[in-house]
Amino acid sequence: MLSYLHEYHAGNFADVHKHAAQVLALTMMQAKPSAIAGFDTHAGIARYDLDADRARKTAEADTGIRRVWRQRDRLSGADWQPVLGELSRLNEGSDHLRYYPGSPAWFHSLQRAQDSLTAFELHSGESSRLQQWARERRVSVLAEDGLSGLLRQLPPRAPRLLVLMDPSYELREDYRRVADTLASAWHKCRHGVFLIWYPQLTSDLHGRLTERLASSGLRKIWHSEVRLRQPPERGMTGSGVLVVNPPWGFGDRLDAIMQEVSAPEGLGIRHCQGWLVPE
Ligand code: SAM
Repeated sequence: MLSYLHEYHAGNFADVHKHAAQVLALTMMQAKPSAIAGFDTHAGIARYDLDADRARKTAEADTGIRRVWRQRDRLSGADWQPVLGELSRLNEGSDHLRYYPGSPAWFHSLQRAQDSLTAFELHSGESSRLQQWARERRVSVLAEDGLSGLLRQLPPRAPRLLVLMDPSYELREDYRRVADTLASAWHKCRHGVFLIWYPQLTSDLHGRLTERLASSGLRKIWHSEVRLRQPPERGMTGSGVLVVNPPWGFGDRLDAIMQEVSAPEGLGIRHCQGWLVPE
């Protein structure tokens, strides 16, 4: 029984990190015209109302994307523009940031005629809402396990592949399953770009994922970590993104994005990165 609902967390500092990395990877891949097959293994509902009760209960967006939004006129980096442009479009140019896109919506905002998106969502209520959002869009929604579903669909027909794996890690086995699925997916499509998000926890459970991947035989794994300057005593102290086969120059550009919002009046974070496994 799945109980995690992303509505409580949408737009927090970890979403900003994850979605900035997702949008950057996709825009960099789109420098070439060849088609990209996108897969979102844990999609959520695609559109979040930051004023709704669930979001207000935690108010996580207030110290996440809403702080970025307040600083938007000072964000000079070109790589912020696809993010800010989509937020502005979704909120009809309003100063008040009410709506926030989830990962399938970020994919969709950049989708070209030649690109495709398959989104998996196992939670029945969430997948119905995702289906509803996808109805008038070129997005295929599958209400099934995203990890085994992904393996069934690989290799894609399109020449290039971008996968986002963003589980809720409700089950401890998710760390092992993500690492094992990534290794199998890479064997089916070695040139694919794979983005994996994980929470940094005081319990250090995420260490299982990075250690397993570091010894998996996979090469070219970029590791980006955002750490809160004032972490809570328990729970999530940071956010991690692993990128297998990052586009050339990805790390420098992601660092520039995160540095621009790292100050205490921004996200209040430190960004550290480097190869988990080099080429
Ligand atoms: N990727 C979304 C975003 O960035 O907007 C957030 C996803 S949320 C962290 C994780 C989602 O995965 C939840 O909606 C949950 O219901 C769903 N989920 C959990 N286990 C799953 C599984 N085995 N396969 C597919 N979806 C799953």
